[in-house]
Amino acid sequence: MPDIINLLPEYLANQIAAGEVVQRPASVVKELMENAVDAGSTNIQLIVKEAGKTLIQVVDNGIGMSPTDARMSFERHATSKIKSTEDLFRIRTMGFRGEALASIAAVAQVELKTKRREADTGTRLVIEGSEVINQEPVAMPDGTNLCVKNLFFNVPARRNFLKSNAVEMRHILDEFTRISLSHPDMAFSLYQNDLEVFQLPAAKLSQRIVAIFGKSYKEQLAACEENTPTVKVSGYVGKPEFAKKSRGEQFFFVNNRYIRNAYLNHAVLTAYEGLLPKDSFPFYVLFLQLDPESIDINVHPTKTEIKFDDEKTVYAIVRAAVKQSLGLNNIAPSLDFEG
Ligand code: ADP
Ligand code: MG
Repeated sequence: MPDIINLLPEYLANQIAAGEVVQRPASVVKELMENAVDAGSTNIQLIVKEAGKTLIQVVDNGIGMSPTDARMSFERHATSKIKSTEDLFRIRTMGFRGEALASIAAVAQVELKTKRREADTGTRLVIEGSEVINQEPVAMPDGTNLCVKNLFFNVPARRNFLKSNAVEMRHILDEFTRISLSHPDMAFSLYQNDLEVFQLPAAKLSQRIVAIFGKSYKEQLAACEENTPTVKVSGYVGKPEFAKKSRGEQFFFVNNRYIRNAYLNHAVLTAYEGLLPKDSFPFYVLFLQLDPESIDINVHPTKTEIKFDDEKTVYAIVRAAVKQSLGLNNIAPSLDFEG
């Protein structure tokens, strides 16, 4: 009887892996913007066309890559961010899995231009469906300029599965909002079909919130600060009367990474108990800083779900911090301050 198991060719393995990392244009936006943040950029530009279906481009002024690193960056499990198992438990970067660029290049036409500060020239690399088409020197400013064209051009089933431009653009805006909120000290801009959507200069968090959500937010923010050995909480919560009937403006960042966490969301909501109109949801942008060794962010490929070693304590501290900031701002003089 003949043996029937064979190793998948690399492009096919990459395409399968891409299914986990790259669901839609917004996934590409997230990965490229996170890479730009990790590269120590101070200015990050996002350009999209057709809601990212035909073009997603991220231009940064970060550390750039050498010609060899430029090629390596598209290999699967290739990363400059971790080296050992110990590193995995003290992650300080947004990325570390080394699979985003490999996955993206498997399902799109990619042009990378990148130049390190100390180098005279940059590198231009063209990859389509995991295949390197061309690599050559190029004159360019310091930093990295990555174009992702025609996402899923070689996976028609996935391309057909994409939603309308309006829906896909909404997802892109969500990612852009999360990353620009969590790094107010960096400048961000967004262009959609050649029109400027956002131009966000480096700012304080409160100014960034107003720049993204609008002037009406200015008077509605209560500062939230709490410092404990387990977790440092900072950010802003919206005044109760500013709460909205729809969700979508609730943001948790753990060590500057956007996360979803129903349990911590509950901690915030109970802090508002009795203050909110029925069926309405408060605005909040809360940053939790924890020892990287006390969380596990390797739970899911997109890293939006994480595990806390001591979830109960974090819950109690978040709830107390929010209560206090609402009380301190004289919204509810009768609030109790226990915990
Ligand atoms: P990860 O971010 O998990 O390391 P990626 O596939 O996203 O994996 O990127 C692979 C590597 O390419 C990174 O570790 C980094 O060294 C390099 N890289 C990617 N994007 C940039 C960028 N914008 N600037 C500088 N280096 C980058
Ligand atoms: Mg990355």
